Amino acid sequence: LKEKVRKPEWLKRELPGMGSYAGIKSQLRELKLATVCEEAKCPNIGECWKGGEGEAATATIMLMGDTCTRGCRFCAVKTSRAPPPLDPNEPENTAKAVAAWGIDYVVLTSVDRDDLPDGGAAHIAATIGHLKKHTQGRLLVEALVPDFQGDRACVELVARSGLDVYAHNVETVPRLQSLVRDRRANWEQSLSVLRAAKDFGARVTKTSIMLGCGERPDEVVAALQTLRENGVDVVTLGQYQRPTKRHMAVHEYVTPDAFAAYQKVAEELGFLYAASGPMVRSSYRAGEFYLKNMLR
Ligand code: SF4
Ligand code: SF4
Repeated sequence: LKEKVRKPEWLKRELPGMGSYAGIKSQLRELKLATVCEEAKCPNIGECWKGGEGEAATATIMLMGDTCTRGCRFCAVKTSRAPPPLDPNEPENTAKAVAAWGIDYVVLTSVDRDDLPDGGAAHIAATIGHLKKHTQGRLLVEALVPDFQGDRACVELVARSGLDVYAHNVETVPRLQSLVRDRRANWEQSLSVLRAAKDFGARVTKTSIMLGCGERPDEVVAALQTLRENGVDVVTLGQYQRPTKRHMAVHEYVTPDAFAAYQKVAEELGFLYAASGPMVRSSYRAGEFYLKNMLR
């Protein structure tokens, strides 16, 4: 698993130090919220949490614990066949805490829970319902959800929960699915989930592709085309960076120019919003696009 390539300068962004970030951090501890932003040591945290001028402050909250039933090759989350049971109070407690925080846009994400009959769909839908109730609908909610093994009833439950953006990541191009993702995940299943979410009335669907896993440019363009043909509204493309040496090696660091070219392709294909860049994460400044687009 030796890295074949060196990390380029454009990826070496400093993590924020003290200042406003420290204030938010201590507030978060009081609220007892686990954020992906912190857990993943995401380098965009300064930008996302603050929100720029005319932009919304965004944070990503994790639901359903810290242990996943799957093991994708790129992901640092712990794996177990039988994670601890769900906390039935989590939906309401999370909603109260996020409402008190006063952010504009929240991304809910979760581990996959293949051990639960509904994959956690009811738990996620309940959290969205409480979030909307506790913020009188003011807070915009994006839910980045599992594939629920393609179960349409689970997709329906989440799509009809009152969320604003239904997100599910295809992660990579079709050819590399089995190399990158857990064996229970695949391109067709993820695509069918995104299509079903739209069928069940999700206003906006969103997905994300990691680059640098060995995909060819023509495969990226073809994947974007297929996603758009299946009604996906928003796409993000970012650089894969391996979390530890035990994870899949980076095949290539895609240049900022190549990312810009993919952004252009995505825009020409008619995505409502596309973000493509080395530092882009699926939740990167997620609040930004609704200000520029049609959610309000
Ligand atoms: Fe990580 Fe999601 Fe894969 Fe679980 S399903 S290992 S949380 S990427
Ligand atoms: Fe958090 Fe996502 Fe922004 Fe990173 S990109 S700071 S994980 S909201």
